[in-house]
Amino acid sequence: MAVKVMRRRELTFWEQLYLPQILTGLRITFAHFFRNMFFHTAHSLGLLKQFAAAVTFQYPEQPRPLANRFRSRHRLTVREEGTPRCVGCMLCETVCPAKCITIVAGEHPDPNVEKYPVRFDIDLGVCVYCGFCVEVCPEDAIRMDTQILDVAAYSRNAMKLDIHELMNPALRKPLPEGSCTLKFPHVCQLSGGHVKGSWEEVYGKGAAHAAPIHPGHY
Ligand code: SF4
Ligand code: SF4
Repeated sequence: MAVKVMRRRELTFWEQLYLPQILTGLRITFAHFFRNMFFHTAHSLGLLKQFAAAVTFQYPEQPRPLANRFRSRHRLTVREEGTPRCVGCMLCETVCPAKCITIVAGEHPDPNVEKYPVRFDIDLGVCVYCGFCVEVCPEDAIRMDTQILDVAAYSRNAMKLDIHELMNPALRKPLPEGSCTLKFPHVCQLSGGHVKGSWEEVYGKGAAHAAPIHPGHY
């Protein structure tokens, strides 16, 4: 097979100097700078509002609008009575390529509901935001539509979202004492793994017998 040799064009004298290219770049930069400064000054005086100024969003004071399909921090959707829609099927934990979801399922007192998550953690320090967990869920129980982007933390442990933060995205570590507001029984990560809440609150008397919880097992 014939090989076609491609020769690079020789740089001209002016191109070898690089000065014209540097000056061209500076001209563009300064044109934007003076244009934006002029329009920002005019806007602050209430003039020329029909002309846009800087193309930069003044983050974090002015967050950029996100597309509806943007994958942001996870949340667990809840039923009307305040329990999670999750039935503990483990599909999301199984499909997660980063292996950053940890679920422990418990028996649900309602025979129509298979199980519920006694524990549901997502380690955002490991998550790659692929969205597979959302796509695979048969119950629409997990979504990535909180529009929350700031997931920075001071420790790796604080990057782990537990069921409190997943069911209430407004919460963020360190969680204040008393923020265990969930009504159904679950292993509370805030107070040494004690079981909090009761099914009676949600389903009435007798429900607790149908849903034995063994925190020591988790
Ligand atoms: S977005 Fe992807 S990596 Fe993150 S928890 Fe879901 S499945 Fe795992
Ligand atoms: S969030 Fe959805 S896929 Fe994951 S365990 Fe719960 S029901 Fe199953």
